[in-house]
Amino acid sequence: MERANEHAKPKDVDIDVDVVIVGAGPAGLALAIGLAMQGQDFVIVDALPEIQQMSRAAVVHAGTLEALEPLGVVSNMEEKGIRIDKFCVRDQEKVLFHASFTNLNSTKQFLLMIPQDETEAILVSRLTELGHHVRRSATVTEVKNQDKSAIVQLQDGTRIQAKYVVGADGEKSTVRRCAGIGFPGETYGSFLLADVRMDWPTTEDEVTLFFSMGGVLVVAPMSGRRYRVVAQLQNAPRSPSLREVQVVMDSRGPRSGVRIKEILWGSRFKVHHKLADRFWAGRCLLLGDAAHVHSPAGGQGMNLGLRDAVALSAALSEAIAKNSSEPLEHYAETRRAAAKEVLQMTHRLTAVATLKHWSLRVLRNHVIRFVSLFPFVRRTVANRLAGTMDKASKNC
Ligand SMILES: Cc1cc2nc3c(=O)[nH]c(=O)nc-3n(C[C@H](O)[C@H](O)[C@H](O)COP(=O)(O)OP(=O)(O)OC[C@H]3O[C@@H](n4cnc5c(N)ncnc54)[C@H](O)[C@@H]3O)c2cc1C
Repeated sequence: MERANEHAKPKDVDIDVDVVIVGAGPAGLALAIGLAMQGQDFVIVDALPEIQQMSRAAVVHAGTLEALEPLGVVSNMEEKGIRIDKFCVRDQEKVLFHASFTNLNSTKQFLLMIPQDETEAILVSRLTELGHHVRRSATVTEVKNQDKSAIVQLQDGTRIQAKYVVGADGEKSTVRRCAGIGFPGETYGSFLLADVRMDWPTTEDEVTLFFSMGGVLVVAPMSGRRYRVVAQLQNAPRSPSLREVQVVMDSRGPRSGVRIKEILWGSRFKVHHKLADRFWAGRCLLLGDAAHVHSPAGGQGMNLGLRDAVALSAALSEAIAKNSSEPLEHYAETRRAAAKEVLQMTHRLTAVATLKHWSLRVLRNHVIRFVSLFPFVRRTVANRLAGTMDKASKNC
């Protein structure tokens, strides 16, 4: 039987720790590294037997890299990924808006493209270096809040007692359900996702968001001469074919010059727009997709979760050291406000990108072209996307 705490462990539990992290996706892993670096007593469990071999999120913004710097993972991430300078909004090939990441209020003057499985592998390797490992094939079935602790029940019968239980267990979070925290919102329907090799007529240092009444289309260059294609699509195919991706690109991307040569990996996923009512209830805390999910426009999903993790590791360490709930209240309030802002931004971006009526689209394009003439607007948009807005506004 394992025992991590110095205080007496009750007879009916198998493990007694300060913190249990449920879920070893990017958010849970980053939190585990933060806690390990501060010498905290925790376990991290995941239902899966190994890391998901799926690329999923690919964008890591400057603000996230800055936040992750103290965890000792950023140099590896930068080595594996590629740096992108520009974000561009286009209506077919016409540029409506462009913002540069080379003038951010940050030590990082770029956006990093790195597949999510590579980011997760770097996080796992750092956690191992710190002497911890993920307890795998360990599904949490129930979390019971008690007065001063919670009991986490695993499917294999193991019972873990902890002062705090963190739900990093994704959109369908068991921790959130057991804590009785609501997760209201709506769904945008399905998205097609593919990593492709193709002839691409625009520049290779740009992430492009195409406005189209058919739905949002995002194209971003990745390492190894690959491109990531993400498209909002009714009934997206489970495993998109070359022809299906070509049709989407032809109808929403540049009018000529795009030729898909190879599909390296493809999938579909459902996107929801939901925010947890609270990030904290009883002994349970939430972060990452367990707390917020939203449109992929702007590439914010994993970024928000990674920044939650850095904030929560500091808050938990302080709460445990001072035996005070104040840092957790602060975490829950500030990170929920940050998530709410991102949800509003991505929702607006998606709504504007998919306007159906031609007259509204013409008006939209004129307005966007006009505002993009102002360097201040371009800089604000770049900082907002990069998650460096707070610093920018302080310095303005
Ligand atoms: C196909 C796809 C494409 C995506 N593309 C993008 C994109 O382009 N850009 C973007 O920003 N975001 C994208 N996302 C979203 C992005 O992947 C998520 O925001 C990110 O993975 C959230 O990280 P997380 O750690 O919060 O949760 P997750 O990555 O969902 O990890 C949750 C972990 O918890 C574990 N778990 C769940 N329940 C239990 C349980 N009961 N017991 C134990 N373990 C449990 C799971 O096994 C999993 O490992 C995409 C998602 C999908 C599915």
